[in-house]
This record gives sequence, structure tokens and C-alpha cells, in this order.
Amino acid sequence: MMKVAKFGGSSLANATQFKKVANIVMDDAERKFIVVSAPGKRHDKDYKVTDLLISLGNAFYNQDKYKSYYITIIDRFTKIINELNVDDALVEEIKAKIDATLDASLSYEDLMNQIKALGEDSSAKILSAYLQTLGVNAHYVNPKDAGIIVKNDPHGAQLLKDSYEKIYTLREKDGVLVIPGFFGFTKDGQLATFSRGGSDITGAIVSAGVEATLYENFTDVDSVYAVNPSIVENPHEIKQLTYREMRELSYAGFSVFHDEALIPAFNARIPVCIKNTNNPSAPGTMIVADREIDDRCVVGIASDTGFSSLYVSKFLMNREIGFGRKLFQILENEQVSFEHSPSGIDDMSIIIRDSQLTEEKEQKIVKRIYDELHADFVAFHRDLALIMVVGEGMNEAIGMAQTATTALGEANVNLEMINQGSSEVSMMFGIKANDLHRAIKALYRAYFE
Ligand code: ASP
Repeated sequence: MMKVAKFGGSSLANATQFKKVANIVMDDAERKFIVVSAPGKRHDKDYKVTDLLISLGNAFYNQDKYKSYYITIIDRFTKIINELNVDDALVEEIKAKIDATLDASLSYEDLMNQIKALGEDSSAKILSAYLQTLGVNAHYVNPKDAGIIVKNDPHGAQLLKDSYEKIYTLREKDGVLVIPGFFGFTKDGQLATFSRGGSDITGAIVSAGVEATLYENFTDVDSVYAVNPSIVENPHEIKQLTYREMRELSYAGFSVFHDEALIPAFNARIPVCIKNTNNPSAPGTMIVADREIDDRCVVGIASDTGFSSLYVSKFLMNREIGFGRKLFQILENEQVSFEHSPSGIDDMSIIIRDSQLTEEKEQKIVKRIYDELHADFVAFHRDLALIMVVGEGMNEAIGMAQTATTALGEANVNLEMINQGSSEVSMMFGIKANDLHRAIKALYRAYFE
């Protein structure tokens, strides 16, 4: 029985948190593979070390003032190291690594990759040194030596499948292995980082690679909640979720777990448990391949803002062969990806994340659709929020959509769109962002109370 335990940024924000992590590691001899994030925020106004490193890299590259970032970063590591009574030679080692990275005359991309990785790399070195002072046979293992081989990609490194064979051999290594999350190496030895929040991905890769019995993901909440606790007080705790449900929930704003991280765990069918570093005896939320479905069907309601809808109408669109392809081709040419696309007989809506749009791009897209597709009407609608009502077995249950539409109607929320057909585990509602809190409260009441 070998477990992988991954600790997120809030679990390693300061020395007190490192001590909790060490206790958790020592508490269970099966916790052999420990994956760590960079130190996160200690309080609301604090900065994550990764963000500080990104600012440092940018400022340095642009020849702006960068010293204050540099000092803040060194300071945070120094404090942790001193408070844990770890040999302060480690401070010098971390500092030397940052200096060497800045002085290496790297391209912008390499500089940012390498500088970003130093948060997790330093966390792992500190934790393994600290565990050693407590008598644990712990070792820092660099992702290169762990066999995490990736393809570089500006949107986040992608694992190469042949990594798994090497990762499996970690099982034979002695003691507790502490591995920094968030990055791997390309075949030719270049460091490449995963997308933001990507230490979860490392945890899942290691879990799949070593064929762990369990992937424990330690964060700062007791469980995954059925709805955002900042909208509904004391929401229902989810005990069990399937991978599919978690994927849908994390897509629409449940930021507990990186959605990409599910893929390796899912493919290898490794169960995942989300647990709280600050309350490790709480059972947490299990994410599994199959679960028993209860009467409620709905497990959670997620939501996210920041969407626009591109509305296109043209009489007899349904008969025009290739219309959809041409429309999506325009988006592809403009390098815009889409989230959903509900359609009617003569019209189509395409939901797009706002972050991909500029006013200029919008105008260009609208113009091209008029000019090239001869549409009757084209417009962007801004300030959309999406709500996902998620649950296995929902599509077979009768009246699920009606519960939602009735609740939303009673709460006076205007529905801009509904999309139920394609996903077997979710229903999507598009509403005006202004109505979001009211809508979520109403849906929660309808499904959970
Ligand atoms: N430290 C990285 C980030 O902030 C990765 C992680 O914490 O998972 O994105």
C-alpha cells in the first residue's frame, strides 16, 4: 500500500504549516510519495511565492526594479527555514539557485519556466530537510530524476506517456520521497512548468506512475462542498464524487482541484481524496470511478462568471451545409476557443470566455460573420455567468430541469440559455452575471434543502 500525498500552497505557507505537513507525513507509513506546492498566501493580503517569482522574472527580464521581489522571496524562505531549525546552508542554496537562474541569460520563456519552478523546488528541499531533522528517512527527488518527462507548451507542459515506466521505479527507492510539483523536463533536458495550479498535476502523474493505492490531495478545506461557501453558508459536504462529476464542477469554478489533474488519476483509476491539512482527521471527499447514486442525483452546483455569448442568426441556417464549420473556422482563425454551443433552427450561440476577447477582436469576428456567412444578425452578449448543476444519473431522473427552471423563475432570474443534451452528468444554465448569487441560492434550496 503506497500513497501519494500532495500539499498545496496554503499547506506550506509558513513554518507552522510545514510542521502540520510533517506530522501528516509521519502519521501514516503508507505516505511514501510527497508532492509539494510553493508556499502560498499566509493571509488574504499576502502573495503566493509563485506570483512573486513571476513578478521577479518579469521585472528582471524587462530591466525594471526587481530587488524588492527578490528580497521578499528570500525572506520568506529564510523565515521558514529558521523557524523549522533547518540548517541555514539551505538559504544559501536557494539564493544561489535564484541568482544562477537570473544570471543565465535565458530566453524569456526559459527564464519564466525556471524561475517559476523555484517555489516548489525550494519547498521540497525544505520539507525533506525538515523531515530529516525529525528522524524521517526523507529524500528530495528532482522531477528529472523522478522521470517526469514532458512536452513543452506555452499553455502548460504535457506529460509524455513513456514517463510512467521510470516513475514506477520510484517504488523501489528507500524512504519518503519529496518531489516538487508543477514542473517536469523535456527530453532534451529543458525545464517546463505545467499550467498554474499544476502541482496537482504532478501529484496525479506520480500517483498514476507508481500505481498508488490512493492520491491524497491536502488543501485547506474539510471537503468539497456542494456549492460555493461564500454564496451559501454552511453548504452540504460532498463525501463522494465521480471523476466526471469533479471534472464538471472544477470546470465551472470549483477551484479545489486542478481539472487537468484528474486525467492521469482517472486513466489509471487511482482514487483521489481531498483532505484538510488543518484538520487531517476529517474524512474529506473521495473522487472515484463509480459511486452509488442516491435519490438526490445532484451532487453540486458550480458557477463561474466571465463569459460572453456570440449570437448568430440566419434564416434557414438548418439547411445550409457547412454553416457551422465556417462559423467555427472564423473563431479558429481568430484563435478563440469556445465552451458551449447551444443551437436552434435558425440560430446558434457560442459561449466564449471573456479573457480571449478584445473589443477589436469582437468587431472583427462580427464583421467576418456578416461578410462571409451573410448572417441576418450577429451580436456579442457580455456579462454572462454559467451555472452547472452536476450529478451522475441526473439525465435519467425525471423533473431535474423542471426543479431548476421553477426555482430560477421564482427567484426572478431570467434564463439566457439552457444546455442539457450533451453531457450525461450536468445541466448548464446561462444567466446574467448580476443574478448569479440569487440564482445559486435558489438552486441550492431547490436541490438540497
Ligand atoms: N505554485 C504553482 C501555482 O501557484 C502551482 C501550484 O501551486 O499548484 O500556480
